[in-house]
Amino acid sequence: MAKVLIVADIKQGVLKGSTAELSSKAKAIGAETAVVAIGSNIESLIPDLVNAGSDTQYIADDPSLELFSAGPYASCVVDAAKQFGANLIWFGFSESGKAAAPRVAAQLDAACATEITDVTLDGDQIEVVRPAIANKVMQRIKVNTDQLVAVVRAGAFEATEGITGTENVVKLSAPETDLKAVIKELISDASGEIDLADADVVVSVGRGAKDQAGVDLVKELANDLQAGFGASRAMIDGGFMAHNKQVGQTGKIVAPTLYMAIGISGAIQHLAGMNGSKVILAVNKDPEAPIFNVADYGIVGDLFEVVPILREEIKKV
Ligand code: FAD
Repeated sequence: MAKVLIVADIKQGVLKGSTAELSSKAKAIGAETAVVAIGSNIESLIPDLVNAGSDTQYIADDPSLELFSAGPYASCVVDAAKQFGANLIWFGFSESGKAAAPRVAAQLDAACATEITDVTLDGDQIEVVRPAIANKVMQRIKVNTDQLVAVVRAGAFEATEGITGTENVVKLSAPETDLKAVIKELISDASGEIDLADADVVVSVGRGAKDQAGVDLVKELANDLQAGFGASRAMIDGGFMAHNKQVGQTGKIVAPTLYMAIGISGAIQHLAGMNGSKVILAVNKDPEAPIFNVADYGIVGDLFEVVPILREEIKKV
C-alpha cells in the first residue's frame, strides 16, 4: 500500500486548507495517510490535523521551530518520512514548501517535482503531471525512484467533504541544527491587505485600467468583495502596484474560488498564475482577447462602465 506523508501548511497558528486537499487525494489513490506538523505550540492543532484526513500525526513542536527555516524543517520531514516509511511526500504550494522540498529529496535520495497537478500509482510506479514552458504543455513524468517529494500546485486537488482521519500522534524531537544563518524575525506585509495566496476571491487589474484612477476603481470592487487585489505584470512594471501583487509565471500562483480579470489581455504568462481558479470572470473591451478562452464568464465592455455596474449589483446581494 502506498504511503503518503503530507507536510501540514500552518500559517500564524492556523492549519491551511491545502492539508485536507492533499489528504483527500492521498485517500483517493488508496494510500495510507500521515501528516507532519512543524512549529511551536502546535499541539492544539492535532484535532484539525485529524479532521483534515490524516491517520498518523507526526508533531515536531519546539520553540526553535517557531519561524520557518528550510534546514530544520526539512530534517523534521525526513525524520517523519523515515519513521512512516513514506514513498510519497507532499508539500502544499507555498514559499516554505518550495524551499524545503528539494532539501528533503536530497536527504532521502528521492526524486523531486514541483507544481504537480496530478499523481498516479501503478503498483510501485509513480507518475506525475506538471505544467511546463509557462503552462504551454503538461508533462507526464515517470519517476524512476521509489520515493517522490512533490510540491502540489495550488488548487490541483479538491478536499472531499466530510473527510476525517484517526488520531495517532507521534512526537518528533527537535532537529540538531548547526545553521550558518538563523531567521530571527519575519516581518509581514503591514498593509493589512488580504494575502493573494489565501484569498477565496481575487480581483486583478491590467493595463486596461490605464492609470491610478482606473486602478483605484478596480480596487474598490476588490474591497466590496473582501477579495485579494492582484495585477498583471504590466501594472507592476508601470509602478502602480507592488511586486508581491503580481499574478503569473514570475509572480504569484493563485487558485481562488473566483478570479476576476479586469482589463487583462490574458497573456500566457498571466494565465500561468491563475488558470487553476475554479471560476474565472473577465472584463475586456476586446472580444478577441485571449482571456476569454479561459473565462467561465466574460463581459465585453469598457471596464470604466462595467465595474461601477458590478459594484452596484454586488451591493444588492
Ligand atoms: P495588455 O496585454 O496591454 O492588455 C490590456 C488589455 O486591456 C487588452 O486586452 C485590452 O483589450 C484591454 N482594455 C484596454 N482598455 C480597456 C477598457 N477600458 N476596458 C476593458 N478592457 C480594456 N505578465 C503577468 O501578468 N504576470 C507574469 O508573471 C508575467 N511574467 C512574464 C514573464 C516573462 C518572461 C515575460 C516575457 C512576460 C511576462 N509577463 C507577465 C508579461 C505578459 O507577457 C504580458 O505582457 C502582460 O501580462 C500584459 O498585461 P496586461 O494584460 O495587463 O496588458
